[in-house]
Amino acid sequence: MLLCANPGARYAAKKDRIDAAVHRVLDSGWYILGDEVKAFEADFAACCGVGHGIGVGNGTDALLLALRTLGIGGDDEVITVSHTATATVSAIEMAGAQPVLVDIEPDYFTIDPKAIAAAISERTRALIPVHLYGQAADMDAVMALAEAHGLKVIEDCAQAHGATYREKPVGSLGHMGCFSFYPTKNLGAMGDGGMVVSDDPALADRARRLREYGWDADRVAREPGWNTRLDEIQAGILNGLLPCLDADNARRREIAAIYDRELQGLGLALPARRHGAEHVFHLYVVRTEQRDGLLAHLREHGIGAGVHYAPPTHLHDAYRGRIEIPAPLTETEQAARQIVSLPMYPEMQDADAAQVVSAVRTFFEG
Ligand SMILES: *Cc1c(COP(=O)(O)O)cnc(C)c1O
Repeated sequence: MLLCANPGARYAAKKDRIDAAVHRVLDSGWYILGDEVKAFEADFAACCGVGHGIGVGNGTDALLLALRTLGIGGDDEVITVSHTATATVSAIEMAGAQPVLVDIEPDYFTIDPKAIAAAISERTRALIPVHLYGQAADMDAVMALAEAHGLKVIEDCAQAHGATYREKPVGSLGHMGCFSFYPTKNLGAMGDGGMVVSDDPALADRARRLREYGWDADRVAREPGWNTRLDEIQAGILNGLLPCLDADNARRREIAAIYDRELQGLGLALPARRHGAEHVFHLYVVRTEQRDGLLAHLREHGIGAGVHYAPPTHLHDAYRGRIEIPAPLTETEQAARQIVSLPMYPEMQDADAAQVVSAVRTFFEG
């Protein structure tokens, strides 16, 4: 079965690097916040074009840590999308703040700046644009709104390692950037991991303190924190894999180019590229009104396509009727009915892509 993502294929392709990293850490005798985490924080922050990286336990905690570092909680409202991983909304509630969910731009699946403008209230403190599927949100418009209204911007970069917007890496555009290294992400660990990046040294210091009990250098808790450390073994693996990120993203773009070329003319909406943004194709998402039929047909042909995401977050049992939705999420709900994620990972062969293409074509052409 060809799946949407395949971390096992990554292990097979990069076994030497990964095994070496694991043994390096095991042999070192140092398992928490050691040299591997330090090196990875420095190198990954540099990749993001910022001065500071704070390794954490996972991407959800990265968002929570950024919110808490910026002092957001209580009655504060945070505007984001419903069309995202549940984690984005979950982190806002974990911070004690109120998520306010707005619609997406239908072509790019990212937050609609017009919807943000309409949703800003006296209680709004922050915006979380999600660079969904590997492509940046409309950050010029997001940052202009943030400046005009004195809001903080936390970028959810969990699907966009290495993506750029007007030549700048995502994570460097807002006040803080949040990454996940869940195994299927563009840069994935062999377990959980995450990072907050920022160019602001004061924010970085506070984030570093909060991720480990609020401790200062003398292990005195200066303020209440918790524990969300990036594991030394995962950091070692990520140090081994970071040098492959650009080549892996380039391979994702090659597969996207094959799909773009071979899936034209079927009445299927292919991914739109935002002007000035470089897409890293965490997912290759097409749209069709015959979504359920296409999914079933692909499955019969050995292709495990996915749906990212349905239902949208505001229609999950945990959130339905409870989360603030200032305007109908028409584009979000329509996208959730139409989207299909085709297999997309760097270890895919051209022949795998051809198998996907042929199965999609037989569905539409018989
Ligand atoms: C994966 C993901 C997260 C959460 O990351 P975890 O490491 O699973 O906690 C957050 N936001 C988005 C958009 C994601 O894709």
